[in-house]
Amino acid sequence: MRKKKTLLEEKKEKLIKYLIDSGILKSKRVIEAFCSVKRENFVHERDRQEAYENIPLPLAEGSTISQPLTVAAMTEALSVKAGMKVLEIGTGSGYQAAILSKLAGSNGKIITIEINKDVFEFGKNNLKNYSNVKTVLSDGSVGYKKEAPYDRIIVTASASSLPEELISQLKTEGIMIIPVGEEMFKVTKSEKEIKKEFMGYYAFVPLREK
Ligand code: SAH
Repeated sequence: MRKKKTLLEEKKEKLIKYLIDSGILKSKRVIEAFCSVKRENFVHERDRQEAYENIPLPLAEGSTISQPLTVAAMTEALSVKAGMKVLEIGTGSGYQAAILSKLAGSNGKIITIEINKDVFEFGKNNLKNYSNVKTVLSDGSVGYKKEAPYDRIIVTASASSLPEELISQLKTEGIMIIPVGEEMFKVTKSEKEIKKEFMGYYAFVPLREK
């Protein structure tokens, strides 16, 4: 006999169905990543029952775990393939990094940077079983030169302008997803140009910049 689904499992199925029906979740691999990562393990104990509401939830000091719809839209646009090296700026809960970890797989690597010490410890602990994820406590507004260049860069806090330094740490043919103010952009780097596509309006905590 099949095991009865828990309330959280039911809510998770409903949320993923909603994200698929609304056209945000599209690709098989991203849907599989969403199915396999438990968002309830990336929120505070008191918020677990709300893990599959389509809302951001509070972490420490004004940080939030992003709304599932936002994570879905950014992850789809980032188009991470197995074996890629990905830089995330703003580890927060670690949830987005966990999704990226599944997509990059065991031959890939995720480097995720968080500036706030308490949030960093929380995210790092949540990610302890994700062996292809490296967590760094640092200012990510200047990227992370040590591991550059990256196939993909995702910024999960909103910048005041497009940071040149991050573009320079992106490989040719690389993609960066970044909110600037309230506008989300997909930035594609090629030999001859930096292409910037507007993706829509999203709310984010600000990126701390020098
Ligand atoms: N990706 C996260 C959500 C992050 S919220 C998740 O899946 O839960 C944005 C985070 O960016 C906050 O935790 C904030 O502390 C962090 N942040 C802001 N400025 C930063 C900077 N310059 N470098 C690294 N992290 C930064």
